[in-house]
Amino acid sequence: MALIVQKYGGTSVGSVERILAVAEKVKSWHDRGNQVVVVVSAMSGETNRLIELAREINPDPSPREMDVLLSTGEQVTIALLAMALHRLGVDARSYTGGQVHIRTDSAHSKARIMEIDGTRVRADLEAGRVVVVAGFQGVDENGAITTLGRGGSDTTAVAMAAALKADECQIYTDVDGVYTTDPRVEPKARRLARITFEEMLEMASSGSKVLQIRSVEFAGKYNVPLRVLSSFEEGEGTLITLDEDDDVEQAKISGIAFSRDEAKLTIRGVPDHPGVAYQILGPIGEANIEVDMIVQNIGKDDTTDFTFTVHRNDLPRAEEILRNIAGKLGAREVETDGEIAKIALVGVGMRSHAGIASAMFKALAEKNINIQMISTSEIKISVIVEEIYLELAVRTLHEAFGLDKDR
Ligand code: ADP
Ligand code: ASP
Ligand code: MG
Repeated sequence: MALIVQKYGGTSVGSVERILAVAEKVKSWHDRGNQVVVVVSAMSGETNRLIELAREINPDPSPREMDVLLSTGEQVTIALLAMALHRLGVDARSYTGGQVHIRTDSAHSKARIMEIDGTRVRADLEAGRVVVVAGFQGVDENGAITTLGRGGSDTTAVAMAAALKADECQIYTDVDGVYTTDPRVEPKARRLARITFEEMLEMASSGSKVLQIRSVEFAGKYNVPLRVLSSFEEGEGTLITLDEDDDVEQAKISGIAFSRDEAKLTIRGVPDHPGVAYQILGPIGEANIEVDMIVQNIGKDDTTDFTFTVHRNDLPRAEEILRNIAGKLGAREVETDGEIAKIALVGVGMRSHAGIASAMFKALAEKNINIQMISTSEIKISVIVEEIYLELAVRTLHEAFGLDKDR
């Protein structure tokens, strides 16, 4: 007998038929003697629909009320799934995040899970029930409903698995595992049988939305065995593992991640003296805007040019702040670009292979794709390119590094 936490994403519970199919799947795991906790997302499209509704009522809704609203999506699916399980004769109970004490901080719309009290869930499991938990939500210490950020049901599932010391956390979705890149962009992408936490974290941080970043952080930290699988077909999926396999020759590159959610800001002709970087980025940070890549160049006549990227949603606010700073610092000009994309090559094998960066730049150059910014870490190289070249760049690199070939 094993304790399994399963998570079903929006598409997997997107219709009545699909919820009934999920119930069948859960039943078969339960019938085989496993204890099963199921975490579900809202039906596909529902969270976006609710966001739109809120905007129609008030263009700047209160974060607290926004979370009250968005959490309803998951409350619908837990009840429907519990009913579907009852119809199959399975004893099941649904719970909201608050009801199973998923305690978070108070950062509405991006709350972090602080602790989970698993007492109630354990009691139900002991009584032979399937427990259905709403993903993406919790409560803060004042009892206010919080949500965990887009894609947050993954994190609910991993956190439940950690709290209950589950034998495995299974993330069921609309692809049958983690691929070398998003199969929607490169149909020749291949499923990876395994990927390390470290690589998965870089893939997620660079834009692969197959798992929410925090779920991977959590799984790594608490060593939760994590697997990504298809809701619709049988298969082994992808296992996220702790170590690189020493026996197998490590592929240089495991995958390519990308993100369109990027925007670039440049401030030119800033008088160069100690503290300018802080003077520019300090106010951006204070406005809670996350900065990703940064480049500083020596310009002419003791001035410097400074370029950085932010999430595209933050561009208008960042631009306003930067123009203000430019005035104060006596900078020459501010330029912004909301049509860029980031592409990242990820692989632990990079550590022991030189020349990956130059091979990457060569492949892009051969397709005449201009690289605007570059950043590297031990197991990742990211570049910024014009957004219209994103797909071409991803496919080019996929082929250049042989990711479409059997390994
Ligand atoms: P869910 O609603 O089940 O949480 P998501 O849409 O959040 O599903 O995540 C699954 C999607 O992630 C896939 O449909 C796929 O387009 C996308 N994706 C991006 N990168 C990858 C990758 N490397 N491997 C697999 N899927 C990926
Ligand atoms: N329903 C939420 C979203 O659409 C959470 C999730 O699906 O994981 O982002
Ligand atoms: Mg998701």
